[in-house]
Amino acid sequence: MRRLLTAALTAALILTGTPAMAHSKAAPAPGGAGVGDEYYPDYGNSGYDVTHYDIRVRYTPATDLLTGTTTILAKATQDLSRINLDFLLDVSSVRVNNRPATFAKEGDHELVVTPARPVADGGALTIVVQYAGVPSSKVGAGYTAWIKTPDGALAVGEPEIAWWWYPSNDHPSDKATFDVSVSVPDGVEAISNGVQPRPPVRETLGYTRWSWRSLKPQATYLTFIAVGQYDITQDTTEGGLPVYNAYSQSLSEDFRFAAEASVERTAEIVDWESTVFGPYPFEATGGIVAPPGTLGFALENQTRPNYSAAFFRRGSNTYVVAHENAHQWFGDAISVAEWKHIWLNEGFASYAEWLWSEKNNEGTAQEIFDYVYASYPDDAAIWTTAPADPGTDELFGDAVYDRGALTLHALRLAVGDDDFFEILRSWVAEKRYRNATTEEFTALAEKISGEDLDALFDAWLYTPSKPVVASSLARRSLAEPKSWAAISEAHELLHQN
Ligand SMILES: [Zn+2]
Repeated sequence: MRRLLTAALTAALILTGTPAMAHSKAAPAPGGAGVGDEYYPDYGNSGYDVTHYDIRVRYTPATDLLTGTTTILAKATQDLSRINLDFLLDVSSVRVNNRPATFAKEGDHELVVTPARPVADGGALTIVVQYAGVPSSKVGAGYTAWIKTPDGALAVGEPEIAWWWYPSNDHPSDKATFDVSVSVPDGVEAISNGVQPRPPVRETLGYTRWSWRSLKPQATYLTFIAVGQYDITQDTTEGGLPVYNAYSQSLSEDFRFAAEASVERTAEIVDWESTVFGPYPFEATGGIVAPPGTLGFALENQTRPNYSAAFFRRGSNTYVVAHENAHQWFGDAISVAEWKHIWLNEGFASYAEWLWSEKNNEGTAQEIFDYVYASYPDDAAIWTTAPADPGTDELFGDAVYDRGALTLHALRLAVGDDDFFEILRSWVAEKRYRNATTEEFTALAEKISGEDLDALFDAWLYTPSKPVVASSLARRSLAEPKSWAAISEAHELLHQN
């Protein structure tokens, strides 16, 4: 049930004709233009909590024109006189709870909506935004995250991407379920997260509508669309999970074979990761390989990572597949409470690569730890940046990825394998579908191991200098782990985003 006023206030309105809000304890106030993220103060918004997005758009590759309607179901978390959304395209109308609302653009990416009537704390909100625009012509945060490709487009990016195609409360602390449907010219593919509640349906005028649904809470930046000419493969995992993969038809044969030899192993890799991290948290899996020269990185979009073709330029690479799918547990199911905690995503996904190497007899995690530790000069950014507070410039830097993984291995050495893997599985069990901080992780590690780990975490996560390792060896005395070429190739690209 969803309504604007409580029954009591409605009665008061009818009986006396007095404006309902005159009976409120406090005057309704505007919601905030940010959730309070230390690194990105104007990302997301305050004053409401989204439960579901229904995104219904049409996209025409030839013109890069996106038109559509997004319906947001939310709940007010204060008495609200005004609501901020994050959005860049041109808005033609906004309705809040079935009444026309006024709206204006403000700042870098804010859409400020004033409902006809204030919304009471705890009240349900239905916000309907109609819009159109050419996403590649819009700039937010100083750049354009939308990627126009020769035969379509990719809405794939972190932390920014939603602003270019749907209005939202754009911060991982407000996750929601999603229905995404995209109408594209007949013969073009439109792929998104989750499962297909219906097969593609022909519309009039030569357009076909593709529908997708995410059944579990999903962060706004992990919601993607890939439009273009794709070849699709479908399967199910041994555990019964639907697998949906897509390969750009513009991949040359050598790229295509290497990409398939990697991404077609997604089911195997997800099944293995389930044995290490606990049950897979979502309803589907798969992967999308972008047209060459378009996407410059990979992103762990929920249920279906997107990969740059460049990962497969020197042959197959299952390490990037292990990395992006480990994010389904660490980053997607468990989301950062604030962006400063990003090592909880990237350190864990990088360590999953080391575990994959160990499983494949291509170098143990200990061998990779020794090699990485010895590889970086003492004055490198990995040592001068604290993973627990990297700053926006190093949000995707070596400290977050490699030192994050080194930290997890240092923890494993300190507490032993049994406690270490118990910590990983308990972390997922306690935090999945929710948000988390570094402090919550270190507290859980201490609780499960029964050890005081302050010194370890201080040295590895909070101190901007190189931690001392008792038995460290010089790199020249270390053999390069067999997996290292593939891992480091993957990281050259991962670090670009
Ligand atoms: Zn990653």
